[in-house]
Amino acid sequence: MQLVCLLLAIIILQLKWHKTIEISTHEKDSDSRIDQLLGRERSTPKKMSAERILIVEDERAVARGLEYGLDKEGFSVSIADTGQKALEMARTQKPHLILLDIRLPDISGFDVCRKLRGEGMRQPILMLTARDESIDKVLGLELGADDYVVKPYDMRELISRIRALLRRAYGELAEARQGERIPFGDLELDLDQLQVLRSGKPLPMTPIEFRLLRYLVSQPNRPVSREAIIDAIWGYPGDIGSDRTVDVHIRHLREKIEPDPTNPRWIVTVRGAGYKFQP
Ligand code: CA
Repeated sequence: MQLVCLLLAIIILQLKWHKTIEISTHEKDSDSRIDQLLGRERSTPKKMSAERILIVEDERAVARGLEYGLDKEGFSVSIADTGQKALEMARTQKPHLILLDIRLPDISGFDVCRKLRGEGMRQPILMLTARDESIDKVLGLELGADDYVVKPYDMRELISRIRALLRRAYGELAEARQGERIPFGDLELDLDQLQVLRSGKPLPMTPIEFRLLRYLVSQPNRPVSREAIIDAIWGYPGDIGSDRTVDVHIRHLREKIEPDPTNPRWIVTVRGAGYKFQP
């Protein structure tokens, strides 16, 4: 009887091992595609399938806690404890996602975010804010952060947001269509480079604004509710994806693309329904 059990256990283990190899080969392929899209060279063959996360946090205990939680989930983690180190590590390591604290000893998390976006870095940035910094949330999003989490955070909630951001960001990059552009007026939506051009020149735009515009442009003349926008842009409800947040981003988008933002030509308000793109 014991021998039968032992044999069964060996067979199950072998099957599991076989399955693990299949999965990691598959992940490796899609991961190389992501790296190729980001123009990134691979240098760590050992942890090929792990998504790299850069934690920018000067409080040692908080950083270690995050590292422990993320490592357990299979992410490959590195830590920067100053803004300058964060910039260097983001440039050299090209992480898949950055967790960015706002209050840092040298330059602020806002500066780090602004600089990286200015350099064309597209990877998702998730900001960590203290409870009393609620005013900072909108500022962070305007500077190009994708989302924020209020400290003290719930680890499971944080992980699910990280996964949602990664899925969305790399799904988009994988879907980016070579050379495809959607023109409207003197503007062009460049689906390959994920940017908006005016007379051929790129407009400064946050990743959220770009996503929002692309979502509206993809369904011309159709009123889209705020709920549908929240679902498409963030993928989950929450304090960030409120109706007011949607309105704020629409306002910013209009200021950038509309000839007269107070009397919009492209993105019109549909009373009681939401917004629509009018080509
Ligand atoms: Ca801090």
